[in-house]
Amino acid sequence: MKTIICNWKMNPGSVEEVDKIIDIIAGNTNSVGRAELIILPPSIYISHLQEQQSQLFASLGVQDISSQASGAYTGQLSAEMIYNLGLQYALIGHSETHKYQQYTSQDISQKLNQALMHNLIPILCVGYEENPNSDEVNTDSIKRELYDIITPNKELLSGKHIIVAYEPIWAIGTGKIPSLESIETMSIFIKRMILDILTPESQTTVAVVYGGSVNKDNIQELSSIPSVSGFLIGGASLDREQIPILLG
Ligand code: PEP
Repeated sequence: MKTIICNWKMNPGSVEEVDKIIDIIAGNTNSVGRAELIILPPSIYISHLQEQQSQLFASLGVQDISSQASGAYTGQLSAEMIYNLGLQYALIGHSETHKYQQYTSQDISQKLNQALMHNLIPILCVGYEENPNSDEVNTDSIKRELYDIITPNKELLSGKHIIVAYEPIWAIGTGKIPSLESIETMSIFIKRMILDILTPESQTTVAVVYGGSVNKDNIQELSSIPSVSGFLIGGASLDREQIPILLG
């Protein structure tokens, strides 16, 4: 079963619009769901979605967490708060947060630390450093990103589950996707690289999902890549016509 992670970003604009999306999702999921669904809404809608969770058959998470545990960090949400609210997932290092909040690898590594300390399952995005003008497979930049972020969290990852979203920056919101072969190569590489950084005894489980312009027209062929456990979907996950096909 593939995992579908819906990143709603800063959408939709009202609770009424949220309800319209919920209706479509509820009509296309059930207890034996065809896909494992994770929704990452704007945090302001979380309690509303939690009220509807039984008909959604979805898990919930946040789009970012603070790298700090608590304190004077206006506007930020801590991993502890998210966990205590009953959420399971935290997206970490999305390229839009790199771009608009200027996060460094050290920030991302600390966010991962916070997520793991508070039993949230991290969805770590990589691919931010890929050349925006080239769709060539670039294992060097991914290697650097993973090394800087994973190494300081080696011990904490022991026995935990991590989802890594391979999101080449040039594919996000552009309508362009890499070849199936390069997604396969990168997803195998990412999994191997993480398991190489960790000790064999760590028993960490790693799932790699692909993100970047996944939509109703390409999800079927992308689903044929065996090393990809699912998809992180932005724009199309808000499109009421596409949702039934994406969950298909
Ligand atoms: C994303 O938000 O991570 C993403 C992949 O967006 P889109 O599907 O719109 O490219």
